[in-house]
Amino acid sequence: MSQIRNIVILTGAGVSAESGIDTFRTAGGLWERYKPEDVATPEAFARDPDLVLGFYDMRRAAIQEKQPNAAHLALGRLDAEWSGDLLIVTQNIDDLHERGGARRMLHMHGEHLNAWCTACDQRSPWTGPLIDRPACPRCGESALRPDVVWFGEMPYRMDAIYAALRAADLFVSIGTSGAVYPAAGFVRGARDLGVRTLELNLEPSQGSSWFHESRLGPATEIVPAWVEEILA
Ligand code: NAD
Repeated sequence: MSQIRNIVILTGAGVSAESGIDTFRTAGGLWERYKPEDVATPEAFARDPDLVLGFYDMRRAAIQEKQPNAAHLALGRLDAEWSGDLLIVTQNIDDLHERGGARRMLHMHGEHLNAWCTACDQRSPWTGPLIDRPACPRCGESALRPDVVWFGEMPYRMDAIYAALRAADLFVSIGTSGAVYPAAGFVRGARDLGVRTLELNLEPSQGSSWFHESRLGPATEIVPAWVEEILA
């Protein structure tokens, strides 16, 4: 590990699962009751905005009741103590990484606790509901939507992610199924660039064979163990 200076970490729903936030695959969970195409596409928002706003209002309220787990805290510690470059790219729209102490963060799929005004194109911190069509704090129009990247929309800051991958020595994927692109393609991109790749997941992801190394187990166990190892 001594030659590793720059690290890019990709996280997915699995890192928040033990905080009580459903992944897509959680049996009996949220995603068995809602199909992504009914609530997480621009077409769904145009067709039934109340359904979509109500869904995100429910989730925005729920995440504020959840707490960061040992995996978030370990990554927060890594951020504080790692002297090389570090970028934690998360597909999660919760704020548990930040509440776990991580600062070098990039939310490629947006953030629950932001609202995006489609009239003035500004983002505002937002903790309450959107279903009653509140006015944008910046322009006063009632045109706020969740600041979340829906299926069919372009993830945020892809240039910054690829720049970090080009400078990385190690790419670590944590708790993501490898089913949603472009994030699922980062491991191949990293390998093409000669970057070492490590997967930490409960079970092998769809792209598992692309990783140099896979460690299986719950995030609250295997992430703190890996952080301990890399900081040693
Ligand atoms: P996914 O639901 O497709 O896959 C979850 C992955 O996490 C699986 O590979 C599973 O093996 C793993 N996992 C489950 N429990 C785990 C645990 N305790 N420890 C370690 N790994 C565990 O989620 P995804 O790959 O992130 O992609 C789906 C998309 O939906 C992404 O955009 C994702 O962020 C979004 N999503 C976000 C949240 C959130 O913000 N917390 C929740 C659900 C879905």
